[in-house]
Amino acid sequence: MPEEITGGSDPKRKLRVYVATFGCQMNEYDSQVAGGLLKAEGFEIMGDGPEGDSPQKRGQSPDVVLMNTCSVREHAEDRVYGRLGMLGKAKKENPNLIIGLMGCMVEEHREKLFRRFPQLDLMVGTRNIKELPSLIEEVRRTRQQTSRIKQDGISIEYTDLIHRTSRYHAWLPIMTGCNKVCTFCIVPITRGAEVSMPAREVYREASRLVNEGVKWITLLGQNVNSYDGLPAARHSEEPRRGDEESRRSFGPSGLRMTEHGRVSFPELLEMLCQIPDLERISFTTSHPSDATEELFQVIARNPKISRRFHLPLQSGSDRILKRMKRLHTYEDYKKKIDRLREIVPDISITTDIIAGFSGEAAEDHEATRRALEEIRYDGAYIFKYSPRPGTPAAKLPDDVSLAVKEQRNRELLILQKEIRGEKNRAWLAQTVEVFVEDRSAKREEELLGHTLQEKKVVFGGPEGLLGSFQHVTLVEVKDETFRGVIS
Ligand code: SAM
Repeated sequence: MPEEITGGSDPKRKLRVYVATFGCQMNEYDSQVAGGLLKAEGFEIMGDGPEGDSPQKRGQSPDVVLMNTCSVREHAEDRVYGRLGMLGKAKKENPNLIIGLMGCMVEEHREKLFRRFPQLDLMVGTRNIKELPSLIEEVRRTRQQTSRIKQDGISIEYTDLIHRTSRYHAWLPIMTGCNKVCTFCIVPITRGAEVSMPAREVYREASRLVNEGVKWITLLGQNVNSYDGLPAARHSEEPRRGDEESRRSFGPSGLRMTEHGRVSFPELLEMLCQIPDLERISFTTSHPSDATEELFQVIARNPKISRRFHLPLQSGSDRILKRMKRLHTYEDYKKKIDRLREIVPDISITTDIIAGFSGEAAEDHEATRRALEEIRYDGAYIFKYSPRPGTPAAKLPDDVSLAVKEQRNRELLILQKEIRGEKNRAWLAQTVEVFVEDRSAKREEELLGHTLQEKKVVFGGPEGLLGSFQHVTLVEVKDETFRGVIS
């Protein structure tokens, strides 16, 4: 048992760490790992909740504030800069306060941030999370700005110390980085080239989570469907060359691997579906180029796989898609969606759209509008384009004015909200299977669950139903949340 880290005027009190998470689910996972590692070293974790959930509101002040940051859009970075300003003021009142950053902004800006923000004490790269406890100790000892930012290796840390916020649902990263060349995107700079976890390690980690009571796992990756893993860790269990029997079979039921001896994403999914007591598997985010017929067939064959498919389109205009180097035309994309809907008729499809990319003319925007109307997504994240330094598109003119970006963004949001409303209303009066995950955050007496299409449902019921599947009749929908009645 590690010794407890104590702080403040009360030497017996544990040091309180507040973790604020910005950005994607990968960051949520990393924050849970950071929280777990710190807790095991004797720190008290005040929260690893969303960025807005301030610890001061709950009447306690932290000794360490860690922000897990995102670089995807300028707005995400601006929020962190704003927070750093506020924390600088807090530090004047409490000079012992330790302020740290982790996540993509650390990878992007590195030690430059120390010069711009003297109040910042520590930075830890996405591949160094394990070193957080010792880094905090170092800062406490030396009061010097301290960082660990490694450039190689994989930024996935499987650990049973993880500080999960849900008992029944878990994130499970299976790959990081991205080999695609989308001109707007900073991910290849902050997370590097694609690296997949070996399939056997993913299988083991999923089984471990299930043994802990997890029933629903969401597989994570910047580009999850281009997963291409070794069957087992290279040093120990990789099948020997020429050993045909072991090369072609792997997993509890002798699952086939690809010809070149690696495990593809559809194969990994099928393998995970065989874990008894793992009831539901989701995944995000997918790239259209790797959304294959084989993947669609695997989803159709396996009722455990979520019926929500998130497939970023970005723009409905071929001219803009080409400028973005998305590797697909609108027609290619639409054909895939049609095929997916044919093979998996109950699939719900969601997307990402960028409004006002470099060179976007009124007719390009119109093409995106038409795409939303034609495809009729269940949901869409719609963002205003912001050039990211170091990306290929940063060299293109940012020639759509902010006012026009905002207007196009608003227009697409209004249209999509209408479509989502119509699609959601079509579910009313249906009785569907809902996985009961938690108590509702707003009303303690209500339960919260998700349908197989990952639609959120709240309904009355006893606590004993947590972790089970229930048949629920959907009776009302407001924004993205359904109200239901157990039937
Ligand atoms: N890998 C996924 C893909 O492109 O298929 C998406 C990952 S990205 C972290 C999430 C979303 O942020 C993107 O799909 C895109 O819509 C948006 N995004 C990325 N870079 C952006 C930028 N420079 N400006 C505005 N939105 C951006």
